[in-house]
Amino acid sequence: MIQLKESVRNLIPYRVNDIPYRIKLDANEGKNYLLTEQINLEKDFQPNIYPDSDAKELRRKMAEYYECLLDNVIVGNGSSELINLVINAYCEKGEKVLSFTPSFSMYEIYCNLCSAKYVTVPCNSDFTQNIDNLILKANEINPKIVIICTPNNPTGYVTDKKDIIKMLDKMTKSIVIVDEAYIDFGGESSVDLIKKYDNLIVMRTLSKAFGLAALRVGCLIANEKLINMLWKVKVPYNVNSVSQYIAVKAFSKIGLVKQYVKETAERREKLSQELKALGFTIYPSGSNFLFVYSKIDNLFENLAAKGILIRKFSKNLNKYYRITVGTKEENQLLINTLKELIR
Ligand SMILES: *Cc1c(COP(=O)(O)O)cnc(C)c1O
Repeated sequence: MIQLKESVRNLIPYRVNDIPYRIKLDANEGKNYLLTEQINLEKDFQPNIYPDSDAKELRRKMAEYYECLLDNVIVGNGSSELINLVINAYCEKGEKVLSFTPSFSMYEIYCNLCSAKYVTVPCNSDFTQNIDNLILKANEINPKIVIICTPNNPTGYVTDKKDIIKMLDKMTKSIVIVDEAYIDFGGESSVDLIKKYDNLIVMRTLSKAFGLAALRVGCLIANEKLINMLWKVKVPYNVNSVSQYIAVKAFSKIGLVKQYVKETAERREKLSQELKALGFTIYPSGSNFLFVYSKIDNLFENLAAKGILIRKFSKNLNKYYRITVGTKEENQLLINTLKELIR
C-alpha cells in the first residue's frame, strides 16, 4: 500500500458513532425551528449551474446579522472548512498553533493535516481559563495562530471580552481566531474588534443556535485586508446552491433565534439543577450544552443502552461528559433514566 504522508499516518479517523438512539444529546445540534415548512426550490433553480462562488446574497444577510460589512465575510462549508483554510493558509510545516485544552478537538486534526504543530495551555482545574497563561506561552513559542473558543466546547466557559482585547493587544504577531460557534447562547461577540485588529478572525456557524447543522454553512469575519488575502486560498464553489438558498431563507426568520436561545438557556439552568440534585458536578456554561462530571460507572454505555446519546471523552477526561440541552421532554427522559440507573 502507498502510505499517507507522515504527519497524518497515525491519526485516528474522526468517525461519528452510529449507535441507534431515541434522543441525541451528543453533538450540540439543537432543534430545527427555523425551517419548519416544506422547502421548495425556485422554479428556475438550475442544478447544472455552479453555485455563486462568492455567496453574495448570503454574505449580505450575514453582514447584516453579524453587524459588519459584506467585504468582511467569507462563507464556508461549515466553519470547520474555514478553520482548516486559515490554518492551512498561514502555517508552514512545523509552525505553531496555540490554544487552551480542553477545547474543540478538530483544531488539532487540522494542524496535523498541514503539519503545523498544535500546542496547548491547560485550563484551570475548575475548567476556567487564565488568559495570562496563554499570553505567556505565546511569548515563549511565537505561534502563527492562536485560537480561543468562546463559549468553549466542551467546557462551556465564556471568555471575558476584556481578556480577548488583552490578548489582541499582546499578540500582534499572531493570527487570533475567536471561534464563536456558540456565542449566540452567551457571551459578547468580538466581531466589532475587527476594525481595530487586523489579525483577528471571528468564526460563526449556522450549525448550533440556528439549528441548521445539515446545511454545513459557517463564515469567517475579519478586516478587509485579511479577507482579501484569504480569497486567494478559498476553494471556489465551496458552498452548494441548495445550502445557500436555504440559509438565506433562514436569515429572514432570525427573530426566532433570540427566543430559541432564551428558552434553551432556561432549559439548561433547569437541567443543571436537576443533574446537581442527582450528584453530578456541573460547570457554568454559556452554551447549549453542559459539561459535567459524574461518579456513575459506565454512564455513557448505560445511557446509550437506553437510547440516550451524550458525549464522552478520552482517558484524561474520564467521567467527564458533555450533554446537549434537549427539549423539555428529552431532558425529562434523561433525568428519569438517570434516576433509574442510580436506584
Ligand atoms: C460545531 C462547532 C464548529 C463548527 O461547526 P460547522 O458545522 O463546521 O460550522 C466550530 N467550532 C466549534 C467549537 C464547534 O463546536
